[in-house]
Amino acid sequence: MPEGPEIWRAADKISQAVAGEEIVDLFFAFDELKPFEESLKGRKITSVTPRGKAIITAFDNEMNLYSHNQLYGKWMISKTPEEPDTNRSLRAAIRTKKGSAFLYSASEIEMLEDDEVKDHPYIKKLGPDVVHPETTFEQVLERYKDDNFKNRKLATLLLDQGFLSGVGNYLRSEILFCAKVDPDHRPKECTEEQVKDLAQYSLELSRRSYQTGGITTEPELVEALKREGSTRKQYRHYAYGRTGKPCYKCGKDIVEMKTGGRKIYYCENRQKMDQ
Ligand SMILES: [Zn+2]
Repeated sequence: MPEGPEIWRAADKISQAVAGEEIVDLFFAFDELKPFEESLKGRKITSVTPRGKAIITAFDNEMNLYSHNQLYGKWMISKTPEEPDTNRSLRAAIRTKKGSAFLYSASEIEMLEDDEVKDHPYIKKLGPDVVHPETTFEQVLERYKDDNFKNRKLATLLLDQGFLSGVGNYLRSEILFCAKVDPDHRPKECTEEQVKDLAQYSLELSRRSYQTGGITTEPELVEALKREGSTRKQYRHYAYGRTGKPCYKCGKDIVEMKTGGRKIYYCENRQKMDQ
């Protein structure tokens, strides 16, 4: 399942392929969207923005294509109008002079007017997006202190898109590691400083991962590890996927546990201080 940083990069690629250029041809597989094939021709795409795991493609006539990829849906882009070579079934195609974007497989697709976007049932339930440049530290901090969330275990809370959208499995481990917080703790059991660190790292690590193409470790550490000959897999994360490997902060082994069927990775020495 892609997390916020990956979805933002996918949206950027779609934007680079088709935004700002007149649409020369449009295709929708579903009957209810067929009328838009004509009305959107000649229009331009103004932005492509993720909302949780959905992507909103905005057109310059106050209309928006809402797409949610579920498990198998996929956007593919091309510099030509030719469809990519794939066995997947085509749901939508947008062709401009500079490039094309194709949406495949199990996807929910709808057309929404500008003022309907925020009220869409999926979008309405989302918490603040951790990668979105307009999301502030205060908004995220408020979330951690909210009565609806502060009594829930962080290991499960961090995967709830209604709490913060864009945080997934690897960001969950990395945020808790950096904030030095026990995954079994609830926000109400954390110190004021830990809660601030959780809010701070929720934004910082998600945005770093967006900018670096999936790396959550700090640039200085990445450089040092690269000089020692480490591979990307080795320097990419502090804790995620590093079971049995030495913690980059204290040298003790990183351990894993399962919560809700998904593995979480942490440093006992750093994050289970009161045990
Ligand atoms: Zn450690």
